[in-house]
Amino acid sequence: MTSPKVSLRPIVISGPSGTGKSTLLKRLFSDYPDSFGFSVSHTTRAPRPGEVDGVAYHFVDRPAFDKLVQENSFLEHAEFSGNCYGTSIKSVKDVAEKGKTCILDIDMQGVISVKNTNLNARFLFLAPPSLDILRARLEGRGTETPESVQKRMDQASKELEFAKTGAHDKTIINDDLDRTYEELKAFIFDK
Ligand code: ADP
Ligand code: 5GP
Repeated sequence: MTSPKVSLRPIVISGPSGTGKSTLLKRLFSDYPDSFGFSVSHTTRAPRPGEVDGVAYHFVDRPAFDKLVQENSFLEHAEFSGNCYGTSIKSVKDVAEKGKTCILDIDMQGVISVKNTNLNARFLFLAPPSLDILRARLEGRGTETPESVQKRMDQASKELEFAKTGAHDKTIINDDLDRTYEELKAFIFDK
């Protein structure tokens, strides 16, 4: 797909787990492979079926993660639902060096941290139509235990509260996927 001109300012997409961030980003990367690159985070959580190491995440154990923290390799890192997640400086640099716009998928703690860096990012919040629908999506994905679903639902309420503080440049509600994708592109190609 030919790409309209896009700013090289990084784009941070956040929102409750299960809202549909990965689904939308997969579509964007597939439609515009030359324009956007994903900041591949490190995580201590186990890979889900189909998740490829180095593509969805760099999957590492806790000692390896702690070592990266010690070495100041992370731009930001946080604990989410009992696991560690972090954006390495290298992951963002790698995308920028290819001349692509870097897209980060991070939680609200990451949003707060990135706001305190010189990344000059733009912030998009993706909200679910309702908490009931969010739960149905999380359960329907079939990747989480009931305990993990509950932890993610608890965290979702905090993410939604945080979004009310106006920390993001734009909020999009992911109801109909095709319509949401159009709104996402309007935001991304806007500036
Ligand atoms: P996230 O990356 O935000 O955790 P996912 O992209 O994995 O969320 O989406 C969670 C589940 O919801 C997936 O099974 C996905 O297919 C489904 N989903 C995403 N967007 C929609 C939508 N607009 N309508 C219905 N189901 C959706
Ligand atoms: P999941 O386990 O569903 O892939 O991700 C759980 C949460 O961690 C999501 O809200 C996702 O945005 C967030 N996340 C993923 N990578 C990072 C990261 O590098 N830093 C931070 N702070 N959050 C991340």
